[in-house]
Amino acid sequence: MKITVLGLGLMGQPIAERLQHCGHAVVAWNRSPDRLETAKEAGLKVEADLLKAIKVADVICLALSDATAIREVLLQSSVSAELAGKLVLQMGTVAPEESREIGAAVEVASGGYLEAPVLGSIPEARSGNLIVMAGGSDENYQRGLLLLRCLGKQVQHVGFLGQGAAMKLAMNQLIASLTAGFSLSLGLVRSEGVDVGVFMELLRESALYAPTFDKKLSKMLEHNYANPNFPLKHLIKDLALFQQVAEKTGIDAGLPEAMLRVFEKGSSNGHAEDDYSSLYEAINPEMDMGVDQGC
Ligand code: NAP
Repeated sequence: MKITVLGLGLMGQPIAERLQHCGHAVVAWNRSPDRLETAKEAGLKVEADLLKAIKVADVICLALSDATAIREVLLQSSVSAELAGKLVLQMGTVAPEESREIGAAVEVASGGYLEAPVLGSIPEARSGNLIVMAGGSDENYQRGLLLLRCLGKQVQHVGFLGQGAAMKLAMNQLIASLTAGFSLSLGLVRSEGVDVGVFMELLRESALYAPTFDKKLSKMLEHNYANPNFPLKHLIKDLALFQQVAEKTGIDAGLPEAMLRVFEKGSSNGHAEDDYSSLYEAINPEMDMGVDQGC
């Protein structure tokens, strides 16, 4: 299958590499030339001209940051005119309504559209261990399945268009609230001088434990959030999408709203590009200022 990957950011690059590893003919495109260079060095075939990259593809795989980027790249008229007969596989995190709008525009251009957002990050993309939450018609799901099975250890056809996007937002809301909840409790434990080891031992034995706590603990203890797989700015984007959807569907948006307020403080304090677990610093500002009592 000839696949063009649009967007070679943190996720797009390993997704393109994985697809090539599975034997697909991959062409990679990115807006900024520096990432094209990195992709070339990693052995990918790159194409700087967007239209040429689109023309050679059977499947166009989108790993762009948000719906605005997708509209700018895919739905400009010269590109739309080339979509007939091709399948667009949208893997970024967008709102259900945004995905339905993009899907409708692709179908007007006589292309097929499947949303396929993913849970997991760079290592999972590299090793084909993502969790894929597809939404769209059976026909488009079947067309994309071979490719999705190369990327995902679990590929789920969640339902119709918008439902895959909704599932992804539901998951990312949990990333936000679990990490915020853990940061609050860890902050209290540390500020009271309680042994963090004992706290973790008890937590692991309880029904409250989630594996993400141990994954993020050392970053929080060391205040080191460098080299992120998933930066705070993306979690803020996803939580803002969740909040908008909640408002429309009648879910009380107070909790996401409150979390966003705190996370944005972290972002403006210089953590936007850091690992999302840096939200710990915004929740526990005194520790950020060096009042940390250790563990
Ligand atoms: P990223 O590293 O920030 O990369 C974003 C990509 O979008 C870059 O290729 C960037 O191109 C491109 N882009 C942004 N605005 C654009 C525009 N207006 N026109 C053209 N290209 C544009 O993001 P990522 O982490 O790969 O994430 C991509 C998507 O997957 C996001 O929706 C994210 O929420 C989702 N996701 C991420 C992870 C993760 O762990 N990172 C996991 C699951 C899902 P330039 O290089 O030119 O800026």
